[in-house]
Amino acid sequence: MIYIFVAIVILLLIALLSILAGRKAASRSGLPRGQLIYSDTGYPTGRVASVITNEQGVKQERPLVSKRYGLTGRPDYLVRTRDGIIPVEAKSTKCPADGRAYASHIMQLAAYCLLVEDVLSTHVPYGIIRYADEEVAVDYSIELRDELIALLEEMKDARMADNVHRSHNDARRCSGCSMREICEEALA
Ligand code: SF4
Repeated sequence: MIYIFVAIVILLLIALLSILAGRKAASRSGLPRGQLIYSDTGYPTGRVASVITNEQGVKQERPLVSKRYGLTGRPDYLVRTRDGIIPVEAKSTKCPADGRAYASHIMQLAAYCLLVEDVLSTHVPYGIIRYADEEVAVDYSIELRDELIALLEEMKDARMADNVHRSHNDARRCSGCSMREICEEALA
């Protein structure tokens, strides 16, 4: 009997330590106030996806998958707040001087908003991009959602085309694009 009691106490202690570790990570990361329900940075919560062990033996959250939009991803953090679920993306770079997030970062965040909206059937009011020096909150507006869905359609068509040309005149979009070093039509 005493062994069962000791085992229960140990399990409770492990659960408590894991909650505290998650909270500590959340507070270090400057996340919005709320419940951390997904974390891709070393403290998997297992709340919205099961926890798996990767090839390096590290435990992590299973990726979220939206078949409807053809999206798969692991947001850095998801926080359940009074306003809804907030995706947070952490970037090691500094925020652009004008205080506006890079267009490619906004689209990545929007993709996580759409993924969460679809997989968890929930309302996503906004997301946060956490740069090394400041945070930028991005409204998940109807316009941004529509722009993302159009971009996903464009990407789907482009995958089947032989040649893909630039579809915009936005130098900011190119300046934040990971393809710009090899892109022959880059504007920045
Ligand atoms: S650098 Fe090229 S691929 Fe990237 S956004 Fe600009 S045109 Fe598109």
